[in-house]
Amino acid sequence: MPELPEVETTCRGIKPHIKDNTISKVIVRNRSLRWPIPTGLNNKLKQHTVTDVYRRSKYLLIKTDTGTLIIHLGMSGSLRILDSTAAVEKHDHFELQFENGICLRLRDPRRFGCVLWEKNDPLQHKLLVKLGPEPLTDAFNAELLYEKSRKRKTSIKQFIMDANIVVGVGNIYASESLFLAGVHPKRLAGKITKKNATDLTAAIKKILKQAIKQGGTTLKDFTSSEGKPGYFKQELKVYDRKAEPCVNCGKAITQAVIGQRSTFYCTHCQK
Ligand SMILES: [Zn+2]
Repeated sequence: MPELPEVETTCRGIKPHIKDNTISKVIVRNRSLRWPIPTGLNNKLKQHTVTDVYRRSKYLLIKTDTGTLIIHLGMSGSLRILDSTAAVEKHDHFELQFENGICLRLRDPRRFGCVLWEKNDPLQHKLLVKLGPEPLTDAFNAELLYEKSRKRKTSIKQFIMDANIVVGVGNIYASESLFLAGVHPKRLAGKITKKNATDLTAAIKKILKQAIKQGGTTLKDFTSSEGKPGYFKQELKVYDRKAEPCVNCGKAITQAVIGQRSTFYCTHCQK
């Protein structure tokens, strides 16, 4: 599933191709994504120029002077830059064609993604307005994590995965960050110390930055028509390593289920 690092990498990958480029046609081949793709997009967007491409949480925002497309890749979505004449595959549901002959094509076999339209500020859209801060900005910091966690009786793992607290900490990143910070995933959020909050905030930023950096090298080819860009598998220290030795102490990694999600940790290194 595309996580925040993949979406950030996708954003950086497609932006140079479509920013300042004028849309010639919008093609919807299958409207039935998670929510129906709105009708009338071709009339709204043709002859308009893309003025910016940016990301908020896992939403990609394609801005024009008339409004913004909000795209989410769901479970299996991917975006590629292709020649407009490139053969269309079965799951290619949506595309923007541009005056210079290229297109931005969305493929989404499982159709959990979405393409929405917002003529006003997209950050005020109902799906985006309540989201917590971006993990890689200064708005996400140890003080915020500590203060928001007070009196919370949920596990620290579920707490950092809550998009109202901070966006983009998916299941794998949560396990990896907690390991790096030495915090047990089942600790109650309200019981973490200030030092834990500092270590955990730093760990989340480090793990996500690493993943984005890695994405830049493994996901750089957005112009290939060969299937979808391969979402990157990063180097994992605890996730999916049940019973394997901890890289720090050699003790076997434990697997547990917290909030219906698989969690991996070291009982010796994480308290
Ligand atoms: Zn260990």
